Amino acid sequence: MSFELEQDLRHRQAAGLYRRRKMLETPQQPEVVIDGKQYLAFCSNDYLGLANHPEIIASFQQATNDYGLGGGASHLVIGHSRAHHQLEDELAEFTGRDRALLFSNGYMANLGAITALVGKQDAVFEDRLNHASLLDAGQLSGARFQRYLHNDVENLELRLKKTDARRKLIVTDGVFSMDGDVAPIDQLADIAQQHQAWLMVDDAHGFGFLGETGGGVAQTFGLSQEQLPVLMGTLGKGFGTYGAFVAGSDALIETLIQFARSYIYTTSMPPAVAEATRTSLKIVQKESWRREHLQDLIRYFRKGCEQLGFPLMDSQTPIQPLLVGCEKRAMEISNKLAQQNILVTAIRPPTVPKGSSRLRITFSATHTRQHVDDLLSALEKVMSKALHRPCVNDISPEELSNSGVTTG
Ligand SMILES: *Cc1c(COP(=O)(O)O)cnc(C)c1O
Repeated sequence: MSFELEQDLRHRQAAGLYRRRKMLETPQQPEVVIDGKQYLAFCSNDYLGLANHPEIIASFQQATNDYGLGGGASHLVIGHSRAHHQLEDELAEFTGRDRALLFSNGYMANLGAITALVGKQDAVFEDRLNHASLLDAGQLSGARFQRYLHNDVENLELRLKKTDARRKLIVTDGVFSMDGDVAPIDQLADIAQQHQAWLMVDDAHGFGFLGETGGGVAQTFGLSQEQLPVLMGTLGKGFGTYGAFVAGSDALIETLIQFARSYIYTTSMPPAVAEATRTSLKIVQKESWRREHLQDLIRYFRKGCEQLGFPLMDSQTPIQPLLVGCEKRAMEISNKLAQQNILVTAIRPPTVPKGSSRLRITFSATHTRQHVDDLLSALEKVMSKALHRPCVNDISPEELSNSGVTTG
């Protein structure tokens, strides 16, 4: 067994695709210690800077006194606490939906929701750049599974016209996790209505940042529950805690409680996490300065990149990738930045399509303009040299045949 596995591992290494974990020794914050060394980090999804917020931590601590630590059982047995229930009510109000349902995490929310909503006689239409959990869920559902071109409403419509499926579910990221661009949710909602399809949006990266009070793409586009019936969000990114939710009609939530297997067959999240998230939700709504400061950092960074001629992508969100192309070049730049104590992750296939490797730079409300200056000057030292050198990937035939869109 080991011999066979090692062969595959070597293969991955040769292709510049090997992944290694870094060991973090501090909380999530701009200045971190990893494997004993200090870095300025631009790779967390803690966009609003709430993962280490004292009030949220205090709520967590208080709640462990009131509820203990473990969830103890699934929601349907005896694991559904008042803390979970109150957070659900508050998330429903926040999203302007009838109800919300908590899941352990975003991966499980997507698996549970999609498999509960569609099956063999149905069809799922997903943006080709959707998050891996959505793509996996579409496949697991047993429904006919199609990927339409990224943010291409016409391509989606062609596909919708051809199907005779019983139910049609359109699924998209709200903000694309590796690109930072926003889906044309208003147009997708129109198309869905014209074709009697259901629309589901995973707004893991939009909640907290987009919208006047952090209500994400649904708030930005002003989409009602009828227009956007399945709204999913995660709590581990902008909210700074952990978990996820699906919000929608009473019938949708009851359906998930009855049929979403990743909801039914798992232990509830620790109630203290729910209680901490209730505090986080208040801060998200109230502290608009966090969104405004992020907007300022994004503008400041993009202006700096334009002056330096860097390959910016079309993003107005805290996800600001620099597209560098080949896998090894992305790794090289990331390593050179690390030598200057700047941490930026190289994102490679299968997380993104082959040849579109990138540095995924993310900002948090706890970053300062000085941090952005430090990043830009480190990038200036390594980018142009790396971009002008030819880049040949040592990619095996198997990997080439797998190219195109993959999940990640
Ligand atoms: C991170 C992410 C998820 C998974 O959420 P977790 O709570 O981390 O499991 C799902 N969808 C998208 C778009 C994500 O970025």
